[in-house]
Amino acid sequence: MAKVKGTIDINIEKCKGCELCIAACPNKVLKLSDKINVKGYRYAMLYMEGCNACMSCALVCPDAVIKVYKKKIE
Ligand code: SF4
Ligand code: SF4
Repeated sequence: MAKVKGTIDINIEKCKGCELCIAACPNKVLKLSDKINVKGYRYAMLYMEGCNACMSCALVCPDAVIKVYKKKIE
């Protein structure tokens, strides 16, 4: 069976570092950056392999700044 692999794109300048996406990710592949964005917040980032495009982060983000992409691995 083909596995689904995913990746995400976070609009980091609009992220407010609330960490809801980090708590919601079942694969624990998100963390807060050590850097800050223009608003002065540490922003969320994907920091390792393992995203399966489950959408949890995008659904929970109050500002809807996360886009999720699916890739099929044969
Ligand atoms: S789509 Fe799912 S697995 Fe991927 S980063 Fe978001 S919550 Fe984690
Ligand atoms: S839920 Fe949205 S605003 Fe909150 S840390 Fe994640 S990307 Fe940033």
